[in-house]
Amino acid sequence: MTLPVASFLTDLDFIRVLYIVAFTLFIVGMRMLTKPSTARNGNIVAAVGMAIAVVATLLIPSVGDYGLIALGIAIGTIVGVPAARQVKMTAMPQMVALFNGVGGGAVALISWVEYRHYLDIGGNPSLDTLIPILFAAIVGSISFWGSNIAFAKLQELIPGKPFALPGQQIINGLLLLAAVAAAIAIVTGSESEGLFILILVAAALLGNMVVLPIGGADMPVVISLLNALTGLSAAAMGIALDNTALIVGGIIVGASGTILTNLMAEAMNRSIPSIIAGGFGGGGASGGGGGGADTEGRSVKSTDAADVAIQLAYASRVVVAPGYGLAVAQAQHTVRELADDLEERGVEVLYAIHPVAGRMPGHMNVLLAEADVPYDALKEMDEINPEFPQVDVTLVIGANDVTNPAAREDQGSPIYGMPILDVDKSGQVIVLKRSMSPGFAGIDNPLFYNDNTALLFGDAKQSVADVLSEIKNV
Ligand code: NDP
Repeated sequence: MTLPVASFLTDLDFIRVLYIVAFTLFIVGMRMLTKPSTARNGNIVAAVGMAIAVVATLLIPSVGDYGLIALGIAIGTIVGVPAARQVKMTAMPQMVALFNGVGGGAVALISWVEYRHYLDIGGNPSLDTLIPILFAAIVGSISFWGSNIAFAKLQELIPGKPFALPGQQIINGLLLLAAVAAAIAIVTGSESEGLFILILVAAALLGNMVVLPIGGADMPVVISLLNALTGLSAAAMGIALDNTALIVGGIIVGASGTILTNLMAEAMNRSIPSIIAGGFGGGGASGGGGGGADTEGRSVKSTDAADVAIQLAYASRVVVAPGYGLAVAQAQHTVRELADDLEERGVEVLYAIHPVAGRMPGHMNVLLAEADVPYDALKEMDEINPEFPQVDVTLVIGANDVTNPAAREDQGSPIYGMPILDVDKSGQVIVLKRSMSPGFAGIDNPLFYNDNTALLFGDAKQSVADVLSEIKNV
C-alpha cells in the first residue's frame, strides 16, 4: 500500500504546482539580475527555483534509476562546484561556454536515447514528438561542439585568431543540408538509428566549422548565441518528453539569450551575421612603446604618477572609465582605494559604465562590485555622457574602444556608430595603459592624441598604486 504522503508528493498536480513555483522564482530572480544591488540575491532566488524544479522532476514516478541519477549529481557537483568557485573573473566567458556546451550536449544525448527508445518499442514516434527530437539533436549538437571551440579559443588551447578553410561557407551549407536531409528522411518514414547518428555527426562538424572562423574576442557574443540555441533545443526536448519544466526553462534561456545577444551586438554596432562571418578584431596592433609619434606624425603626451596625483587631488569631479585592461590588471581594489582617498578630500568620484566594456556583459559592474564600489557611484553610459563637460578629470583605466571618438566622427571606422563614453569632452583625460597597442577592434584611438589627453603608461594596477602613493604627498 502507498503511504498517503508519498502518493501526495508524487501526484502530478503537486509536481505541476512545484514547477509553477520554480518558474516564478526563475522570473523574479532574472528580474533582480537587472540591477547590481539585487543581482546577487537574484542569482540565489533563481538557483532555489532550479533546485525546486530538480526535486519536482525527481518526484515523477517514471523517472527511473535513482542510483544512476545520484551518481550523475555527485560527479557534476565534484567537477562543477570547485570550477565555479575558483574561476577568475576574466575567465568567466570560457566557463559559461563550457557549462552551456554541457547543456547542449546533454540535450543531444537525450534526443538520441529517446529516439532509440521509440525504435525499441516499435518505430518512429508521432510527428509531434519526432520533430522536436530531431530539432533537439541538431541544435544541441551544434551548441555542444560550438561551445567547446569557443571554450578552447578563450582558454588559448587553440589559437584565438579567426581560422577559415577555403570554401568554408559552402562546407557549412553542405553540412547543414546533410543534417536536415537526414532529418527529413526520418520524418518521411525511414526508421534508422544510422541516419540519426549522421544528424548528430553533421551537426557536430557544423558546430566546429561555424565557430572556428570567429576571432577569440568575439566569443562572448557567440557564447550568448549558442546559449540561446541550447535553450531552444532544451525546450524542444521538453515538448518531446512532455516535461513542462524543460519547456519553460528552455524558452526562458532561449529568449533571454537572444535578447542578450542582440543587446551586445547593438552596443558594438555590429550585426549578428557579421559576427558569425568572423574575422573581426585583434589585428593591426600599432606596436608597443610609451609616447612618441605615430605614422601620421601625431604625438601623444605621456605623464607620470606625481602629475596625475596633483590633478586628481585638486579636481572637484573625477570620473573613472574602466575597460578590459582594468580586468586584466585586476586593478579594481586599488582603484577603490584611490577613490576613497579622493572622496576623503571632498572630490566626487563616479564610474562610467559602457555596456560592452571588458569582454562580457556586466563585466565592469561585477568587477567593481567585487571591490565594494557603491552601486550609486556606477553610472550607465546614457546617464554619464551628458555630464562629461562638467568633469574635471576622467581616468580611463584599461579602456580603449569604448572611448574611441572615431565611433562618433569617422564614418570609415569599423566601429562607426557604436555608442561610446564621451570622455574626450571632460576637462582632462588620463589614459592608463601599457603601450600604444590597440584594443579589441584593432584600431587606433584618436582620443590619445587630443590636447587634453595624457597617457600614463604601465600596468593599470601598478599605475593606480603609484598615483595613490603620490597623492599622499599632495
Ligand atoms: P579594449 O579591448 O578596447 O581595450 C583594452 C585596453 O586595455 C587596451 O588598449 C590595452 O592596451 C589595455 N590593457 C590591457 N591590459 C592592461 C593592463 N594590464 N594594464 C593597463 N592596460 C591594459 O577594451 P574596452 O573595454 O575599451 O572595450 C571592450 C571591447 O571588447 C569592445 O570593442 C567591445 O566591443 C568588445 N567586446 C565586448 C564584449 C562584452 O560583452 N563586454 C564581448 C565581446 C567583445 P595595452 O595593451 O597597451 O595595455
